Amino acid sequence: MKTEVLVLGGGPGGYTAAFRAADLGKQVTLVERFPVLGGVCLNVGCIPSKALLHVASVLNESKEVSAAGIKFAEPEINLEQLRDWKNKVSHQLNAGLAALAKQRNVTVVNGTGSFIDATHLQVGSEIIEFEQAIIAVGSRPVKIPSFPNEDARLIDSTGALKLDDIPKKLLIIGGGIIGLEMATVYNALGSEITIVEMQDQIIPGCDKDLIRPLFQKIKKDYANIYLSTRVSNIEALADGLKVSFDGPSVPESELFDKVLVAVGRQPNGGLCDADKAGVVVDERGFIAVDKHQRTTVSNIFAIGDVVGQPMLAHKATHEARIAAEVIAGMKSQWQALTIPSVAYTDPEIAWMGLTENEAKAQGIEFEKAAFPWAASGRSLANGRKEGVTKLLSDKKTGRILGAGIVGTNAGELIAEAVLALEMGANVEDLALTVHAHPTLAETLGFSAEMIEGTITDLYIKKR
Ligand code: NAD
Repeated sequence: MKTEVLVLGGGPGGYTAAFRAADLGKQVTLVERFPVLGGVCLNVGCIPSKALLHVASVLNESKEVSAAGIKFAEPEINLEQLRDWKNKVSHQLNAGLAALAKQRNVTVVNGTGSFIDATHLQVGSEIIEFEQAIIAVGSRPVKIPSFPNEDARLIDSTGALKLDDIPKKLLIIGGGIIGLEMATVYNALGSEITIVEMQDQIIPGCDKDLIRPLFQKIKKDYANIYLSTRVSNIEALADGLKVSFDGPSVPESELFDKVLVAVGRQPNGGLCDADKAGVVVDERGFIAVDKHQRTTVSNIFAIGDVVGQPMLAHKATHEARIAAEVIAGMKSQWQALTIPSVAYTDPEIAWMGLTENEAKAQGIEFEKAAFPWAASGRSLANGRKEGVTKLLSDKKTGRILGAGIVGTNAGELIAEAVLALEMGANVEDLALTVHAHPTLAETLGFSAEMIEGTITDLYIKKR
């Protein structure tokens, strides 16, 4: 078969690229190895994890509200029903994507595609001839070769989201976003959680002051959090996985019912014979692209996890539009100023623009405000007081440089800061924007007022 635009991979990057190219008048074929569209994000990532995190938050809130005199009975967890419900959420979106593809006349081919050369892709016995291609093959969880990976009790994020059981004792290797989100889910379902993180803080890329409220909370809720620690060995025994640690103040070994490995993801660039098309794939599996998402081969583009960090669905969809638009003859290129990060933990952590660590490392002179949610009426009314909204601005121009939020709904709240940064807003713009009261969004306005020196919701002594 022949196609104008071939898209390899049907995750958020791939389907967005396919749909945008079709909307721009291209004839598009989308190749996906799984029988449904949506990729890791929709099937074994963002969406099922958010469904489970929603349930976790209901379970947690039903306990926390006892402080207000409301006591619920112990929840009964029907695991099979919970699994079905979570799968139903994904299936609804799978069906939606299939319909969207059909409405646009995008041809979806199921199967694993491998390049033959720069204009041909093989899928099973079929050969597809294309004019332009977009590689959107994503990434997979990193495996640690010395671990007993064939043992069913050693799982990755896909295994954790399957929810086969609720292990009594769960060890999570990697205190990054996946590890901490899964810890939130399994802790709420009743597992005893231990986390091992190689670095000296969880979510190492994020400022420490934003991590602190989450860390304080989970330190109380979880059995152990071992920082600056590695797992040196895992032995599969009949009654559990015997894990040996290497780090300060850790037990020599401990037995766990399940171990989740969440130490990052690796790109799938090496799995589609892109090199046969002349595309350079580095030794880790990444494919280099320019600001138009074009690879070293002029008719082949790449987007999403396979082109580099951060491996986030919203980065992939943004790149997807660029690639599709360039193919359609538009002058699109990467111009976004920031890609927000969100950890959907409890509390959530979200940040965008420069972190404080980055601003310091780059020698940028900045003003900083951190508004404590203990002074937010809305947060206290929600029964929470640990949040913080931090804003960084350029000392000379007042332009917003970065923001970080820790607290409930931080992932939703960060959007205002992202828009402010993209619009070139300064602190005064944020401070003079009327925020509805009482909302958590107000805390962004308050932190701007702190920098402006106009805040009335706190008392800050004049310097
Ligand atoms: P990650 O890179 O975010 O975190 C991995 C963590 O494991 C790091 O803190 C690292 O220091 C630690 N680590 C690495 N090797 C280790 C070892 N041997 N022992 C102990 N700790 C070790 O990776 P992840 O959490 O697996 O997530 C993978 C990707 O998926 C990331 O790019 C992440 O941003 C993305 N993701 C995003 C979201 C979201 O946006 N909410 C959710 C899930 C995943």
